[in-house]
Amino acid sequence: MTVKETESVQGTMDSRTEKRKTPVLYLVVPCYNEEEVIEKSARVLGDKMRRLQHVGRIAAGSKIMFVNDGSKDSTLRLLHAAAARDTMFSVISLAGNYGHQSAILAGMMTARQYADVVVTIDADLQQDIEALDKFIDSYTAGSEVVYGVRNDRHSDGIFKKGSATLYYNLMHLLGSRVITNHADYRLMSRKALDALSEYQETNLFLRGLIPTMGFPSDVVYFDVKAREAGHSKYTLSKMMTLAMDGITSMSTRPLRMISILGMLVCLFSCIMLVINLVDWAKGNNVPGYTTTMTVSLLIGGITLLSLGIIGEYIGKIYMETKHRPRYIIDTFVWKEDDPAKTEEED
Ligand code: UDP
Ligand code: MG
Repeated sequence: MTVKETESVQGTMDSRTEKRKTPVLYLVVPCYNEEEVIEKSARVLGDKMRRLQHVGRIAAGSKIMFVNDGSKDSTLRLLHAAAARDTMFSVISLAGNYGHQSAILAGMMTARQYADVVVTIDADLQQDIEALDKFIDSYTAGSEVVYGVRNDRHSDGIFKKGSATLYYNLMHLLGSRVITNHADYRLMSRKALDALSEYQETNLFLRGLIPTMGFPSDVVYFDVKAREAGHSKYTLSKMMTLAMDGITSMSTRPLRMISILGMLVCLFSCIMLVINLVDWAKGNNVPGYTTTMTVSLLIGGITLLSLGIIGEYIGKIYMETKHRPRYIIDTFVWKEDDPAKTEEED
């Protein structure tokens, strides 16, 4: 390394350590019909935040920002009650159900106006909140993005486990840089969030998008527990939509594969044609019914599938050209911390 290079590395490190003071941390928690678990979540997450504040790992003014994603049960009422009791809790309520990805985006984009770092975590306490210390360590050491990666999938059913493995393999095959077994338990610095705000796409797949931004990043492993209460809000159709968005928003490789498949089918047809012509010239009477049926069904299937894939992309282009807002905030509750109360707790 030359002297100049050493200096420049030193320069970056200095500026990094310089700004890595105890951060104001915001936890962003998306909630969709979570009435069974939300009070316990608020309690557990609130306690953890207080402990972190007490030992000086996070700065005063750190908060938990719940994002109500158009819940139809009493989630919003419970969240407002929590926010009325404690200024630690802030509540964004979206005008409707925009889906998990948009809900965390709404939370992150709002939280970055107040926070140095934002951590997104699910409302069901499945993700181990104790990993938060490691997230902060990693941020202090210079990471702009820290990905929470689950240790194993023993709490998942066989279907979810199998489909997840298949999906991650497929995503990597298609050239996406999505991190295996990383859901949306993630820390992002304000710098990374500001960069993320520049991405205007409607088809949001944060897990695939964020690794492409290229900031210094790190991985923290955590244990997954069973859901504390309630049932998964990711229905099969929501999961399929996320999976399709993941593929079509990150890669155009399926379109290339269609072209290659088309070429292979054409080649195959040419070979078949030659064989048939030779047979015809020899005077062989080809019974041929099975072959004809197989070939036409195969080609029909491939054509339909290809059209479907192209249609998916056209649908995405259609949605992108509308430039619709990705979420609409209906109400927002945020209160300044009461200094007297904070001192009392300390
Ligand atoms: N969620 C959301 N909007 C939705 C579906 C889910 O905000 O349309 C939230 C949900 O409340 C939870 C998180 O996203 O906090 C993850 O959902 P869930 O735990 O149901 O998914 P799973 O862990 O089963 O994949
Ligand atoms: Mg969950």
